[in-house]
Amino acid sequence: MAVPQNRTTRSRRNMRRAHDALVAANPAECPNCGELKRPHHVCGACGHYDSREVVALQQEVDLDEDAA
Ligand SMILES: [Zn+2]
Repeated sequence: MAVPQNRTTRSRRNMRRAHDALVAANPAECPNCGELKRPHHVCGACGHYDSREVVALQQEVDLDEDAA
């Protein structure tokens, strides 16, 4: 098994971890419902993208109507 030849110093370790920070999301307001959504993604609240509905919501699908 490979073993490090030299101990990683606190300085080297911390320099490596300098790029590990999480970056905050950049939510944008949905133009249809006003809910915060991810940019370039379908709105999770109303299923709209680019000012039109692209994903039907669960509550809008009436299963009883299909059975009758
Ligand atoms: Zn929306």
